[in-house]
Amino acid sequence: MHNTIRHPMLKPALRRGWRDLRTAQFGVTPAHAIVLGPLDTATARLLHLLDGTRGLPLLREEASRMGLADGQVDQLLARLVAAGLLDDATGGGEAAQALRERGGPALDRLRPDLAALSMVSREPGGALGRLAARRTTRVQVRGLGRVGAAVAAMLAGAGVGGVDVRDGGCVEPWDVAPGGLPPESVGGRREEAARRLVRRCAPGRLPRLIRPGRSASAPGPGPGRQPRTEPGFSLVVLAPREGLDGYAPDPAAAEHLMAAGTPHLYAGVIEGTGVVGPLVLPGASACANCLELGRAERDPDWPRLVAQWRSGPSRPVPSGELALSTAVAGLVAGHALAFLDGESPASTGARWEASLPDLAWSVRRVEAHPDCRCGASGGGEGGSHDVREQHETMAG
Ligand SMILES: [Zn+2]
Repeated sequence: MHNTIRHPMLKPALRRGWRDLRTAQFGVTPAHAIVLGPLDTATARLLHLLDGTRGLPLLREEASRMGLADGQVDQLLARLVAAGLLDDATGGGEAAQALRERGGPALDRLRPDLAALSMVSREPGGALGRLAARRTTRVQVRGLGRVGAAVAAMLAGAGVGGVDVRDGGCVEPWDVAPGGLPPESVGGRREEAARRLVRRCAPGRLPRLIRPGRSASAPGPGPGRQPRTEPGFSLVVLAPREGLDGYAPDPAAAEHLMAAGTPHLYAGVIEGTGVVGPLVLPGASACANCLELGRAERDPDWPRLVAQWRSGPSRPVPSGELALSTAVAGLVAGHALAFLDGESPASTGARWEASLPDLAWSVRRVEAHPDCRCGASGGGEGGSHDVREQHETMAG
């Protein structure tokens, strides 16, 4: 595998430290830190040469000058690849190379995002490959209040290729938020203001990439999640300004998404509670109807209450504390990006909630309901989407 590496580079995002003379630790936090050893002195010195500036022939030459036997460079590289520690300054495929050559200042803005992607992609050059795949995805964000507008801005800023925004009406003073709609947009059409925001937050001109599924020369099953159909969306984020529609979503409102098989992610802030999830993978993980059926089972009065809330007088000023709304937006954007990058974020078939004033995030699993026609509960355990064991932290 390492034979395909051209300019090997230790992942620059990981701090290096020595536990003893022969044992190196790469990275600080338990999530991504790796301990490598034992390493002999010459091999340890060789690590310093892996900064992406040397091709393999030069590395082998320098290694033999340092007294390493033939093949030791390759052995070390294989070991580093196996440990997920190696990047390739020129790897990641054609699309990654195009980004590298023509990305310029736009790519500079995405450096921290690339560094983070290198933590989750094991293959050398994989981070840039993932970023290139992100450029081919399209997301729609519905609901452009404090949460939705900030989500759209973040997705655009993180390099998602297409961010479509949907909402009616005009920007109200209370829609304004740092990272979201700016004060000068008040009074203007919400969609137009959000479109301007998305354009402003996008990292800049990046080369246009071939959209997978459109061209036979598109890269194979890359790390990125590919749109199911053109001109469909890879993901729809539902962040209704009316908090109840995010907390107790009406299944009828998502019927077309279910029918089209479009993955969608619910989010919102209601009263003093922020909600992220569930991410619905139609037919594979619990949907809004599963959520509603499950709730009615645990609390038989729930449907009566929801009916009253839905038909009650609408509250013109939504309740959503600024920091909580921003935290919800950040988590939603993070889960959306993880999904687009081909991962299974923790909101898949689950819901994260944080309430004022302690704001501790807790997770509750949203089970696929056997009576729901979405099919997620059929065939056992909601397909291949892993949802970790969770404990319930609240009733209802
Ligand atoms: Zn369902």
